[in-house]
Amino acid sequence: MENDATIDTTPDGFGWITRFIDSASGASTTPEEARRRRMRILFLLLATITPLLVFTGNTEQSVFHEEQMLLWAGVLVGASTAFYAALRLFKAERTIGIAFGLWVLTVIAHGPLYYGDPAQIALTTLVLIPLIMGSVSGASASLAGTILVILTYFAVLGSAHYQQHQITDAAISLISYSMLSTVLCGVLVSHFQRHTEAEAKRLTDDNAKVHAIAMTDSLTRCANRRAFQMAMEQISENADSKVHPALFIMDLDRFKQINDTFGHSVGDEVLRTFAERLRNVVAESGRVFRLGGDEFAILFFDEPSQSALEDLAVQIRALSEAAIATQAGDVDFDVSIGIALSDGSEASNSQLYRQADNAAFAAKKLAGSAHLVFNNQIDGQITRQYEVEECLKVAIAKRSIGIAFQPQYDLRNGAIVAYEALARWKDPLLGKVSPAEFIQIAEKTRLIEVLDQQIISTALRNASKWLGRQQRVSINVSARSLRMTDFAAYVLKHVRRAQLDPSQVEIEITETALIENWDAAKHTVDCLRRDGIRIVLDDFGIGYSSLSYLAEFPVQKLKFDRSFLLKACESSNSLIMRSIINLAKEMQVEMVAEGIETREQLNLLRQLKCQQGQGYLLGRPIPAVNMDKFVKSRRMVA
Ligand code: C2E
Ligand code: MG
Ligand code: MG
Repeated sequence: MENDATIDTTPDGFGWITRFIDSASGASTTPEEARRRRMRILFLLLATITPLLVFTGNTEQSVFHEEQMLLWAGVLVGASTAFYAALRLFKAERTIGIAFGLWVLTVIAHGPLYYGDPAQIALTTLVLIPLIMGSVSGASASLAGTILVILTYFAVLGSAHYQQHQITDAAISLISYSMLSTVLCGVLVSHFQRHTEAEAKRLTDDNAKVHAIAMTDSLTRCANRRAFQMAMEQISENADSKVHPALFIMDLDRFKQINDTFGHSVGDEVLRTFAERLRNVVAESGRVFRLGGDEFAILFFDEPSQSALEDLAVQIRALSEAAIATQAGDVDFDVSIGIALSDGSEASNSQLYRQADNAAFAAKKLAGSAHLVFNNQIDGQITRQYEVEECLKVAIAKRSIGIAFQPQYDLRNGAIVAYEALARWKDPLLGKVSPAEFIQIAEKTRLIEVLDQQIISTALRNASKWLGRQQRVSINVSARSLRMTDFAAYVLKHVRRAQLDPSQVEIEITETALIENWDAAKHTVDCLRRDGIRIVLDDFGIGYSSLSYLAEFPVQKLKFDRSFLLKACESSNSLIMRSIINLAKEMQVEMVAEGIETREQLNLLRQLKCQQGQGYLLGRPIPAVNMDKFVKSRRMVA
């Protein structure tokens, strides 16, 4: 750390002395700290050397004789070098190292000067120990040191008196000056320590501020993803079965659309307001995080009950009842919430995020509901989705998705007018997977475009081998494919390659596909129609169906959704069917009913004068490899 932010604080004119002190005292991160360190070391130096100088000045065997001066200087230089090297070598805490070094130095220097008088050396050592204690640890240690010195002083006096020895003036001066310098040093160090403590507090406060900024999302003022990760790590590390945390993961439905339609600044306003409303509702019961984009989390620690959490989820969903006022006008929004509760164990805590996230995903996609509490069934669904997605990638890469063709009959004369191409997949690991399942997953994971293209090219190539001149092949495509700019060109290219007439090809699209991508879909549909390809509106009647679409989106054929036939016997339903059939007739749009399973359904459709029909009663989807045989056998019957 120190090395990262070292500041060059060498004042002008002090040169190598300050550099030496700085290098001995360690790199400082602020000029203030550097000054403090220098001062501390200078006082140590002063306090240690003072008694030495006093003594050398007073003794009869003065050090200022030539040889002794040399000796003294040699010892001083040697010892400081050794001390400095040792300091570096052992990476000692520098202030303590310096104090210790000075103590060693002084003892070594005193030794020869006293000519081996053990009482003097012991005295010096005794005096220096509290001095060092004071220097390093501050006023209280200094006081203890001073008391020790005074006691020693009286002990020495007493002993001298008892032994009838004269105590030298030098020894008395040494003790007095040492006491003085010890006290001085202690007072100064304690002053600096107080200063340091104040500084440390200021730094701690600053650190806390910086920490808070680093953990806060600047847009919403919620705790951010980093804070969330730390909180999650903490709860899985400090698992305690008595504390049962719970987690909400939320996101705003169709937020991308808000951004795309109104721009990012309006998107920001929506997020800000939502976060504010969220914090108000949650209050003190949990901690709100923004995980990024439109994703939020709330972490609860005080063992909330499932019903309390669900109540809160309802309140959060109710936040969307009031639209958010933005510069671009009122913006509506919706929230999906996934809830997970932990039993407090480490394993459960560490699963919390995954479970809440899966529940949120399920709330949005699977259940169509706005809040869901995690359960194992959701887990199973998510795991299954993941498995299907992985295997689907492989199947698409290997082009192993097959096709079956289901005939559509003219209900008046029993002729086959068209064949609907339906994707079929038998995976080596998963076995048979229904298109209702894998198409939805392909749509979510953007595999659908490639899959649709594969089905289009294969179905056309296959159909070209057996399709009658008056018959058509009908291919389902997803909303996402319609968004592709070159989709129509792709279809036409493969129609030509299969040497089929464009009028023999029908593209089945659903209403939802049209509604979700009106402009892009309209453009693609216009291109397809211009090329002579027919458009069929599939699953008609279950979406936001409005016949007004038909005016803007001229289609050649409408396909009643299967649900109409399931309830066909209800008179209100047959009435609706009758009016749609009549309207379609007037608009010169063909009508086909799918999912015919019973004779009653067929009879009703005939009665209502529905032209075409498709269903298990009339013919099940036939695998592509059997189509040649099927067509031949039909010809034989005819
Ligand atoms: P869809 O386009 O409405 O296709 C009709 C579905 O009804 C097919 O299911 C078909 O097998 C089934 N069906 C036909 N007759 C009957 C019947 O009498 N009773 C019942 N209960 N069902 C009947 P499938 O093949 O499972 O396809 C489901 C959906 O998957 C299709 O609905 C279509 O939306 C989608 N799909 C299938 N193949 C493709 C494809 O190649 N591309 C795209 N984008 N979607 C496809
Ligand atoms: Mg279809
Ligand atoms: Mg359908």
